Amino acid sequence: MEKRMNRRECLRALGLSGLVGGVGLLGNRSAQAQRVGESSGFQSSIIDGRKIEANRGNTALVDGKVIQPRRELPVLHETDVLVVGAGPAGVTAAIAARRAGAKVALVERYGHFGGLWTGGLVLLILGHIVEGKKQVCQGIGEEMMRRLDKIDGAIVDRRPGVNPTADAEAVKYVMLEMIEEAGVDVFLHCWGVDTIQAGNTVRGAVFESKSGRQAILSKVVIDATGDGDVFAAAGAEFAHCSHNVGLVSRIGNLDRVDKSKVQEGGAKPRRLGAHTPVPGVNWVNLTGPEVDGLDVKTLTRMEMNHRKFIWKNMQRTRGLPGYEKVYLMETAPQIGVRITRVLNGLNKVRLSDLRTATKFKDSVGVGGSTNGQHGPWQIPYGALVPTKVDGVLASGRCISMELNMADLVRLIPNCFVTGHAAGVAAAVAVADRCQPRNVEVAKVQKILKQQEAYLG
Ligand SMILES: Cc1cc2nc3c(=O)[nH]c(=O)nc-3n(C[C@H](O)[C@H](O)[C@H](O)COP(=O)(O)OP(=O)(O)OC[C@H]3O[C@@H](n4cnc5c(N)ncnc54)[C@H](O)[C@@H]3O)c2cc1C
Repeated sequence: MEKRMNRRECLRALGLSGLVGGVGLLGNRSAQAQRVGESSGFQSSIIDGRKIEANRGNTALVDGKVIQPRRELPVLHETDVLVVGAGPAGVTAAIAARRAGAKVALVERYGHFGGLWTGGLVLLILGHIVEGKKQVCQGIGEEMMRRLDKIDGAIVDRRPGVNPTADAEAVKYVMLEMIEEAGVDVFLHCWGVDTIQAGNTVRGAVFESKSGRQAILSKVVIDATGDGDVFAAAGAEFAHCSHNVGLVSRIGNLDRVDKSKVQEGGAKPRRLGAHTPVPGVNWVNLTGPEVDGLDVKTLTRMEMNHRKFIWKNMQRTRGLPGYEKVYLMETAPQIGVRITRVLNGLNKVRLSDLRTATKFKDSVGVGGSTNGQHGPWQIPYGALVPTKVDGVLASGRCISMELNMADLVRLIPNCFVTGHAAGVAAAVAVADRCQPRNVEVAKVQKILKQQEAYLG
């Protein structure tokens, strides 16, 4: 039986019993601010009258098997469009859907926006241009870039045809600003773990957080997790792929290299990376081995190996004459998983279509190349729609594609483009009370153009 502690027992357990006489009653939330130390300046109190339905150990070991019983979940929120994952695709999708008139909730497992762009420290924005330096990523992605540009130091170079580099903190700030302006409901620190389904139709998702396991109900869910966590939970068809898993880092004091000490013909530093908007600071990419980015043991091994490697490489650099002051500023908090689950959708992004510049009637955007080395490729709406499951759309690096297109599809601007399309399509599905597979694509295209997207 669970035994509830009274306030005095609770404070004693916290080591605060000596303060009880002096702090007054704590039950009233409005009078909660209580000093816990004479000079600490911190405040703490017992939270009363609010029930957090945290998970309560109801998983049983039965005959050596771990069994979870069925249970009713508290509903945290209800919305029209639920976007799971707040990377480049998810943030763009949420803003697009909201601007198109839907009520939108955006849920993210970490505490900030930007996904791999910020948490993964992937700062170089490749893929917004094609041959002839034409910029194909427009719309909300381009608006984000313009806003970044206005913040001093956020973008290194925005000349036409140049791949700009952003500052992760500036990106987090601009995304937050745009999400707030749009009026999106945000839930951070919530990890999507399951879908809620009525038959074959997704009607929301289940999240784990410090508040326990809760549900968010919606009319359409956009999977912007990068890993297809939502469509996989919904039973959609997908390919499970391996790819290179790396870890990005930032190094500092490159402006303090003592060139007079650098020996000509001597050992050269390895992996000094490329510039960022912060003077003397470089971001250092790491390709890493091809592994399964969904396997938790593999991810653990990658984190540990990459951190050792990055640290040791920096010590070697610091041992070289002239480089003594260069140092490792940070390793990315988010490991660099590139491709894992790839949706099997109604249509696919195909290399042959890029080569022949195929025009799609249901084009919802145009993808760019890494460095302007090839032409534009249209993205058919069908690449966002699962073959069988309803109520869900994919966006970002897990949309339906041939694997040989993955290294283009996953580039940040191309994720803006598919996020933008998924957001508008979801809003149209809600407004017209239909499933995403049945939306009038011409209507989606019209709104995308009104939102300044380029469809080819
Ligand atoms: C090492 C590396 C280097 C790269 N270099 C470049 C480059 O130079 N230029 C470039 O343009 N691109 C580069 N990329 C690719 C690019 O960064 C990503 O493909 C892009 O960020 C994908 O955007 P996304 O929104 O689809 O997914 P992500 O950026 O992965 O965002 C997904 C978001 O969903 C959240 N999430 C995931 N699962 C859940 C869940 N179950 N519940 C709740 N939230 C969840 C994540 O925390 C994250 O915030 C690189 C990628 C890597 C890994």
